[in-house]
Amino acid sequence: MKNIILIAPPAAGKGTQAEMIVNKYNVPSISTGNLLRAARNNETEIGRSIIEAQDKGLLVSDDIVIELLRNRLSESDCDNGYILDGFPRTIAQAKAYQTMLNELGKELGDVIYLEIDKEIAKERIVGRISCPNCGTTYNEYIVDTMPKVKGICDKCNGPLTKRSDDNEEAFNVRFDTYIEKTAPLIDYYEAQGVLFRVNSGISKDYTNIEVEKIINRD
Ligand code: AMP
Repeated sequence: MKNIILIAPPAAGKGTQAEMIVNKYNVPSISTGNLLRAARNNETEIGRSIIEAQDKGLLVSDDIVIELLRNRLSESDCDNGYILDGFPRTIAQAKAYQTMLNELGKELGDVIYLEIDKEIAKERIVGRISCPNCGTTYNEYIVDTMPKVKGICDKCNGPLTKRSDDNEEAFNVRFDTYIEKTAPLIDYYEAQGVLFRVNSGISKDYTNIEVEKIINRD
């Protein structure tokens, strides 16, 4: 499978779509949000700066994110394709990523843009719960994304928790940050002829069908 970048506003379903692709194509999904959440528990200055940025909905500094990502992409399970969820988030990160790809001998692949209205995304945030152990996300109020047993992860049986940045205030900051810093990537990748748009406001299954059409197109 080609490498895939998922670009989307917060709560558009990046994590859910990444999960569905992982299950079908057996490639890893790499979420910089999850890499950072794992690193924030470290009692270090880096850990503290991640907590500070994430809890406010602000971006973590590029050098921290890029270092974590480079280490992860160097692992052998990334050799046959992977999904990037949440990176790049700025034009500067996109440029640093291209340099990283050249150094690692990897291809950019496809960029899939999940489109969604702000109000629908905000509704999804309210009920979002996730598994801190394996990263799977669910929604308490949306039927097709509820866990089978309330409060328990279907995949690893871990207890589900609400992310510290899944509140309305942090959502608004994250959405504004997305519009200002991440949305310019849409034109950036469109100009390179690698961007595909998918409506992500209907249902996760509809989105997945459209995503798979892109993956399977040749
Ligand atoms: P996500 O899990 O993708 O919603 O990301 C949650 C939070 O992690 C973001 O609000 C940022 O604070 C941080 N984060 C995730 N990916 C990046 C990135 N590529 N660059 C900077 N910060 C990031």
